[in-house]
Amino acid sequence: MEVDQKPIVVLKFGGTSLSDADTIRNSAKYAIREHETYRQVIVVVSAMAGETNRLLSMGRQFGHVLDTSRQREFDALVSTGEQVSAALMAMAIQEKGVAARSLTAHQIKIHTDNRFQSARIISIDSSELLRVLQQNMIAVVTGFQGIDSDGNIVTLGRGGSDTTAVALAVALNADSCKIYTDVKGVYTTDPTILPKSRLLKTLFFEEMIELASSGAKVLQIRSVELAMKNNMEIHVRSSISETPGTRVISERKGLETLTVTAIAHDDNQAKIAIVGLENYPDILSRVLEPLANANIVLDLITQNVGVDGKMTVSFTINECDLEASQKCLDSAISEGLSGDIFVERKLVKISAVGIGMRTHSGIAHKVFKLLNDQGIPILMGLSTEIKVSCIIPAEFRNQAIAVLHEGLELYKLGQ
Ligand code: ASP
Ligand code: MG
Repeated sequence: MEVDQKPIVVLKFGGTSLSDADTIRNSAKYAIREHETYRQVIVVVSAMAGETNRLLSMGRQFGHVLDTSRQREFDALVSTGEQVSAALMAMAIQEKGVAARSLTAHQIKIHTDNRFQSARIISIDSSELLRVLQQNMIAVVTGFQGIDSDGNIVTLGRGGSDTTAVALAVALNADSCKIYTDVKGVYTTDPTILPKSRLLKTLFFEEMIELASSGAKVLQIRSVELAMKNNMEIHVRSSISETPGTRVISERKGLETLTVTAIAHDDNQAKIAIVGLENYPDILSRVLEPLANANIVLDLITQNVGVDGKMTVSFTINECDLEASQKCLDSAISEGLSGDIFVERKLVKISAVGIGMRTHSGIAHKVFKLLNDQGIPILMGLSTEIKVSCIIPAEFRNQAIAVLHEGLELYKLGQ
């Protein structure tokens, strides 16, 4: 006899959809609606709005996060935000007469590696979750957390609830994975900067990964990588308005592909140039080694030789890493590295992203020309298969976004 298997749906709610009793009730409504339409429902929750930051700053009152034992307690601390919202969400669902149960990563065995603050999910033992679903209950799972092989609570990095949702959808072979947020979906650019920006109906996984790594904050990059690897469509939706949202998919079948799909921006960038370096073949790795040892993340990197035969190495970093980077380089110079350091602050990175760039040439030139024609200086540029990025002074950010949005014809064609 064939078992009547209801489809499984995973819904994830971000902090702004869980900021107080009313928004939690509102989010619960979506879960109940899915349940009523004959689905097995898993809800993944973030911490309530602002809660993770609050917990982090409480933890920071007790010294630096240096040794492993302190990191362990940090994760034990910040993971509690999700436990609170899971219990409240389960109560909000129960209040409407539907059975629900909150479950922590420990209770459903979300196994991860042992990297505190940035753990990766290794496996999910779905048996407890299935048991709850089979009892016709809505399972409310804490996002952002897992357990390592020693049973420690670990967290998955900021924004990690998205990854929990996708991982559960993949592990349980869900029919769909809906990420509810406070925006209507993914836009052609940040609508708070350019109100004319357009909501995208669909977007490729690769494009979403590039946008997320270029400053777009809708989804955690790792969640999209995981979804792409497993071909799990992500549906980004609004918890405040009944709009169709954006589907992040692997193929945009039968639709014309635009060359550039969206423009992202990354604020608070700084550029460091080390000028007058000796032209040794390994100079780049010599310069970057102390920064790598200090775990400083570099973004764009260039090296070039001047007419005097001396080398210049330039790179961009997040402004918050500026002081630490300067310290590393100062000590490298005092230990014998010859060169002068030049710093530029208050920069932004603007990136135009689109899979159509693979088959169109000249996009980098077009981007640079559009900006230069407006007198916007480009301090560094980078072009990859599906992305063109420029580092420009922050004061030109909004103008650059508007010019590129217009010049690259992002108003065109609803996708
Ligand atoms: N609460 C965590 C954070 O703020 C995880 C998440 O929201 O996805 O980063
Ligand atoms: Mg988020």
